[in-house]
Amino acid sequence: MYLRLTDEQKMVQETIRKFVKEELIPLENEVLKNEREGKPGISNEKLKELRLKAKEFGFWGINTPEEYGGADLGQMMMALVLMEISKTFVPFSFGGSADNILYYGNDYQKEKYLIPTINGDKKSCFAMTEPDAGSDTRNIKMTAVKDGSEWILNGEKTFITGGNEADFVMVIAITDRELHKKTGRDGVTCFIVDRDMGWKSEYIDTMGEWGPAGLVFDNVRVPEENILGEINGGYKLGLEWIGFARWVVGARAVGMAERLLQMAIDYSKERKTFGKPIADNQAIQWPIADSAVEIEAARWLVLNAAFTLDQGEDNRHLASMAKLYGANMGNRVVDRVLQIHGGMGYTRELPIERWYREARLWRIYDGTDEIQRMIISRNLLKGNVKIGQYV
Ligand SMILES: Cc1cc2nc3c(=O)[nH]c(=O)nc-3n(C[C@H](O)[C@H](O)[C@H](O)COP(=O)(O)OP(=O)(O)OC[C@H]3O[C@@H](n4cnc5c(N)ncnc54)[C@H](O)[C@@H]3O)c2cc1C
Repeated sequence: MYLRLTDEQKMVQETIRKFVKEELIPLENEVLKNEREGKPGISNEKLKELRLKAKEFGFWGINTPEEYGGADLGQMMMALVLMEISKTFVPFSFGGSADNILYYGNDYQKEKYLIPTINGDKKSCFAMTEPDAGSDTRNIKMTAVKDGSEWILNGEKTFITGGNEADFVMVIAITDRELHKKTGRDGVTCFIVDRDMGWKSEYIDTMGEWGPAGLVFDNVRVPEENILGEINGGYKLGLEWIGFARWVVGARAVGMAERLLQMAIDYSKERKTFGKPIADNQAIQWPIADSAVEIEAARWLVLNAAFTLDQGEDNRHLASMAKLYGANMGNRVVDRVLQIHGGMGYTRELPIERWYREARLWRIYDGTDEIQRMIISRNLLKGNVKIGQYV
């Protein structure tokens, strides 16, 4: 075992660091201003321009297979990249990628949905959650009923990220009621549904700077060639989509917390009270120390989750750990850093309060804290995973 990055990994990390410092961080004030005026942080044109610039650096399709024009750098590199770009709140993501489950599409679906998504010509979203089925995904009600060569979809989805902007949704609906009732998992299917097939979306306002959508399907007709993966096999796809999103939350939290901790260190050395820098007080030193320790712990959980996936092994247990610990670490660090900044931390002059609101979501979506604990403890209690198995 060698606990250091390879030269290639270091080079990627350095290049992204430079990109973030030179291209993204200078946009932060503009992003705050735009968001406070109710506009998107950066325009679509600016996002496209930044993505093209990143492409010149070689960052396009970080995780996308080479046959689709991607760099296919693997999950470990993805984790390192995410940790770097999360050091800013500028809403940027690299171009050239698509949802992991879209690769299960047949040739027609790859041509019509996967490739345009990779190229940035189409936007997707994934919809599992319903008003009565969040943590308890078995309780979904949306139905798909076969009619000739089409399926008719009825029901509602809620809290769908990207649902306001998406050109198509990958949506989970019950296709075999009996099987679903019996197993809770099987009997549901994933459909790719274009917006112009008739579903409607409505913006949901949140405490963050962006909102998901509620989706309504009222007799939406979907051709059978739009079934993604196996019929009645939609739950597995759902788990795979969510599984990837989980350790990614941990990576984001590490990036944010590193930047915030540096802000706290800098501020505590500058800010004087009672004739000396606040950094001279143990009450300020301890949260700095605790944050540094927790960031390292989260980093290794995330890297292990990514590494395990790169080995082709099941990383679900580690992904839950990385999400649970990373999300909570991020929330603790942002709170401590806000406290160290005193009144300034609470103002909108600094971005800390923005991060404070954003980080709160991490403990909720892609499986709440409680659901991660349920998964981790269940794996251990049933003996599916042994303590210390992943070294
Ligand atoms: C901004 C945002 C974006 C989202 N994006 C998407 C998306 O793109 N696609 C998608 O499908 N979904 C998405 N979601 C949905 C998200 O995954 C759910 O909100 C989440 O899984 C929790 O479900 P719920 O809100 O229904 O809470 P509930 O399931 O009603 O839970 C309420 C509370 O009870 C706790 N709880 C529930 N069951 C148990 C239990 N057995 N033991 C202990 N505690 C329990 C929960 O942890 C939580 O604290 C998003 C949500 C948000 C807020």
